[in-house]
Amino acid sequence: MPASMPPAGQPAELWQESLSDLITDPRELADFLQLDQRLDPAGEQALAQFPLKVPRAFAERMEKGNWRDPLLRQVWPSFTEEREAPGFTADPLRERHYNPRPGLLHKYRGRVLLIAAPHCAIHCRYCFRREFDYRENSPARAEWREAFDYIRGDASIEEVILSGGDPLALGDGQLRWLLESIAGIPHVTTVRIHTRLPVVIPERVSGELLAMLRGCRQRVAVVIHCNHAQEIDAPVAAALKSLHRAGVSLLNQSVLLQGVNDDAAALSALSKRLFSENVLPYYLHLPDRVAGTRHFAVTLEAAEAIMRELQACLPGYLVPRLVREDPGKPAKTRLI
Ligand SMILES: *Cc1c(COP(=O)(O)O)cnc(C)c1O
Ligand code: SF4
Repeated sequence: MPASMPPAGQPAELWQESLSDLITDPRELADFLQLDQRLDPAGEQALAQFPLKVPRAFAERMEKGNWRDPLLRQVWPSFTEEREAPGFTADPLRERHYNPRPGLLHKYRGRVLLIAAPHCAIHCRYCFRREFDYRENSPARAEWREAFDYIRGDASIEEVILSGGDPLALGDGQLRWLLESIAGIPHVTTVRIHTRLPVVIPERVSGELLAMLRGCRQRVAVVIHCNHAQEIDAPVAAALKSLHRAGVSLLNQSVLLQGVNDDAAALSALSKRLFSENVLPYYLHLPDRVAGTRHFAVTLEAAEAIMRELQACLPGYLVPRLVREDPGKPAKTRLI
């Protein structure tokens, strides 16, 4: 193979195996990490409401014996979730108001978001869609056609965002069908895929997926979702490199999370690591006030102080935009 050829990517079966072999039992995760579960017991209610799901490859990047590990904190169903907190609600973004067709959210001018998949490869405890009604928004193909008719009928829509759940948790057949349907709409110039798969199950970046993305008529952007530099190991770096070589624009969004990445040193290390893998930082979200996530909350003052430190130590292109989502606004609200 000539040196300029992109790497072939991983065979398709590997990622399917990883996706069907997730850690779902908190005891197993605690044992694997040599942690005493009595120190931070998993909450029964928290688990029933949003079960534990962790890919093994992600668990392997956690530090053994460390309850404060930034990767573990993102997935551990802590009993503290069960404390009710005023102002933290199931649907703080009022997404139900912007849902004109099943599976389609149209909030901002020029772009629509498709809930392309009803599930994820990992359950992040801070997730703002943890109580989203996926049953109402898991369209069959006939309903997807309604969503595509909606996009076809509005020439102002230039970008289609595949979100979820995680669109790359779909099999290649379904993904190809979605991408081909979007390719058939002339005024759509960009397809954007929001996904955590390249980070949590890097084998997902298979040769087949790369070929599919390379063959897209539209410009393709992949927004990965990485909160801490420790999430990026050699297989993740290789997956990102092959996406880059396939002509995909790579961006990252993070959520600012107490106990995970709420300090300038961690975020600056993340930006630098991302850049070395051809990924530019995009958004840093102030977490939405979703029920069960108060223990992740960072105050606006603390967030602004972190941002000022980041601005002082990083080149401008490595400083993410601190944003918050305010329902009813024409765009995400830029905080700094
Ligand atoms: C965040 C979001 C988008 C994308 O917004 P950008 O600022 O373009 O990244 C689009 N639609 C919905 C419903 C969103 O929540
Ligand atoms: S991968 Fe994204 S949508 Fe899925 S649980 Fe995590 S934050 Fe939520």
